[in-house]
Amino acid sequence: MEKDIIKVDSCVIGGSIVGLWTALDLAKKAQKVLVVDKTYIGQEKSNVDICINHMCNENMYDIALKAQEKWLELKEHNLDLNIELRGSLSFALNHEEEDNLNTILRKQKQHIENFESFIIKDKQAIKTLLKAREIGEQVRSALVSVEDLSLNHQACLDYLRQQLIKNGAQFWGSDEVIDVELKDKKITGLITKESIIKADNIVLATGAKSKILLDRLDLKMPLRPARAHIVEYTSKTQLPQQILNYKTKFGEYICKSMLNGRNHLIYTGLEDQMQATWSRDINQQVVNSSILEMIRILPILEYADIQDCYTAQLAVTPDRMPFFGKTKFYDNLYVNIGLNSSNYMLAPYFAQNMAKLIDKKVKNPDLAIFNPDRFMLDDYKIDYKAIAESETTIQTLLKEFSDANEQPAPEEE
Ligand SMILES: Cc1cc2nc3c(=O)[nH]c(=O)nc-3n(C[C@H](O)[C@H](O)[C@H](O)COP(=O)(O)OP(=O)(O)OC[C@H]3O[C@@H](n4cnc5c(N)ncnc54)[C@H](O)[C@@H]3O)c2cc1C
Repeated sequence: MEKDIIKVDSCVIGGSIVGLWTALDLAKKAQKVLVVDKTYIGQEKSNVDICINHMCNENMYDIALKAQEKWLELKEHNLDLNIELRGSLSFALNHEEEDNLNTILRKQKQHIENFESFIIKDKQAIKTLLKAREIGEQVRSALVSVEDLSLNHQACLDYLRQQLIKNGAQFWGSDEVIDVELKDKKITGLITKESIIKADNIVLATGAKSKILLDRLDLKMPLRPARAHIVEYTSKTQLPQQILNYKTKFGEYICKSMLNGRNHLIYTGLEDQMQATWSRDINQQVVNSSILEMIRILPILEYADIQDCYTAQLAVTPDRMPFFGKTKFYDNLYVNIGLNSSNYMLAPYFAQNMAKLIDKKVKNPDLAIFNPDRFMLDDYKIDYKAIAESETTIQTLLKEFSDANEQPAPEEE
């Protein structure tokens, strides 16, 4: 059967937070826009209530602030996205971790004027903040960031999809870009299961699942996997609305109270070799140790009822910074991927600038550091190649550690 040929100004591949924001900004510029996503959106459980600020990569504080303004605009419109100031608490259990918290605090104060955050060492005060009768004996101090924003991820995606349709864009769920047609330096067609899309501009917003298309296009933007484990539980004693996190050198444990009465305990092992896998299998050992780690901080969790357990994927870049901009290797390909674990808040700002870049060819100098070709250029100031190579050690170790059940690449899912 011959496939339909669809012509648009811009096609955005990937309809999650980055893709939807980008498409919306492009549609508002009177472009004919089509978004294609391989899942039926809202079906995947990978994302949960999102905290917009607290885990921000320190290199991006300034940009994050500009992005936050966009989220706050939405809050002012009184939209039902549960955007709220929840605050977050980060714990330290030893001297080294205390030093880390102090560094974060210093950087927050340096970059974010009037950002309300402080460190408390008084255990009684920590208990009061948590409304907890008990906290773990090992807890030495906590960094309190009062102004962290939180929002409901699914509600946000729903809102963006509605806005897209209102602005005349098309959205295709459950379809996938499986191949490309190439001529010289141009992508002349995107082949999906149903159609062939001809687009003047193509935006790659494929997040954690970008590897297949990058390989097909022979673009060496290094992305390695990190698996997150999520444990859903209910507890007779509800935690307060803060987001609690505890960082080790391998990863981060997060506890979030959800609005539906359930709670999430998330372990994201960005530096953890055992988690550097595209597999979505649950590793029971990881689940057990995550629960034990959090019980060290909040003994109340010992009595929690576990309801569900699942995993999600993250794509990690060697310098933990996204790939954003036009790649010089194709005339019509723009990239907005690699948002690692904590850059949800950047999405609207990146999208707005992507739309400007496509529509008016205006570059934002703030975003030049995210050049998607940075690991492919020899003359780049920072030795990105060395960074990328050091990441390959993880891949080598991973091979040694990975067990027989694990799948080699995302396309196997
Ligand atoms: C458990 C967990 C908790 C997190 N918590 C936070 C948090 O508190 N704060 C924060 O800032 N960030 C958080 N993050 C990170 C945040 O979710 C990501 O930074 C963000 O989702 C990246 O968005 P994205 O649009 O780039 O990619 P994704 O959300 O990965 O979406 C990419 C989309 O592209 C689609 N796609 C891929 N390939 C194709 C193809 N070939 N054809 C069609 N469609 C395709 C996929 O189906 C997917 O819908 C968390 C992540 C996880 C997993």
